[in-house]
Amino acid sequence: MRLESLQPRPFLRLLDAPGSRSDQDQDHDHDALNMRLKDKICIVTGAAQGIGLATALKFAREGAIVVACDRRREGVDEAAAACHALGARALGFVVDVTDRSQIDAMVASVRAEFGRIDVLVNNAGITKDARLLKMTEQQFDAVIDVNLRGVFHCAQAVADTMVVQGAGVILNASSVVGIYGNFGQTNYAASKFGVIGFTKTWARELGPKGVRVNAVAPGFVQTPILDTMPERVIEQMRAKVPLGRLAQPEEIANVYAFLASDEASYVNGAVIEVGGGMTV
Ligand code: NAD
Repeated sequence: MRLESLQPRPFLRLLDAPGSRSDQDQDHDHDALNMRLKDKICIVTGAAQGIGLATALKFAREGAIVVACDRRREGVDEAAAACHALGARALGFVVDVTDRSQIDAMVASVRAEFGRIDVLVNNAGITKDARLLKMTEQQFDAVIDVNLRGVFHCAQAVADTMVVQGAGVILNASSVVGIYGNFGQTNYAASKFGVIGFTKTWARELGPKGVRVNAVAPGFVQTPILDTMPERVIEQMRAKVPLGRLAQPEEIANVYAFLASDEASYVNGAVIEVGGGMTV
């Protein structure tokens, strides 16, 4: 099941002549100098694309050892390789978050390899939209299984390790839809509202054990999850955002990186809206 190998990070190129490198290279060096997640073992679910991939890459640039999980085998391969290309150590696992046995196998492998788990980002999520009067039980169950039950299983699978360590961070993907609701998203809104309930409950339960739990509630982010939406609807979304645009996945990943780092040492039980001001 494990798909990627380990490789040490390269030396920082601090002595290059000014102007000799691309902006991207310099961004990477900037992250490398921050290294807020240096040697932290970070599991990211749904890491094959979109926000999960951006988060895996951001964590890699900040020095994390990334455990990229997704149900898509080739996506996992590519995510781990992309982290690797940034000089990070990375492992890829094919994990469907609706399958507890796959989650447990991944967690056991990570523990066997590294002896600890520092961060879990519960990012994997799906939509299956329909209005209340049209929503099928299959659509309802599919979204709840991934977005809610999957988050429960992944958190439960790592929580005992974090409690024994007396330290750890669990980050959950909510959504502005989980706070305000959205037309056609009964199942999705319920799952993302439920994730906020998880976050606040686990912040109370695990905070005393040294484990912080927070949620991120993005607005509309330019990722493949929006591919099924008509351009007309996306334009309506854009018009609601004071910043006048959708978010890029990296803008959500930056918030995850902050929350995963020790800079957020007093942030617990929070739901951080990252919506460009769309709800003010
Ligand atoms: P995406 O569809 O681009 O990527 C989701 C990833 O999760 C995919 O790689 C997919 O293969 C994986 N995945 C789906 N089901 C899985 C399962 N059962 N097990 C393992 N992996 C699974 O989505 P995205 O836009 O990057 O969204 C990521 C998270 O952020 C989701 O939880 C989503 O609900 C949330 N979110 C997204 C937006 C947005 O506008 N894009 C807004 C708010 C919240």
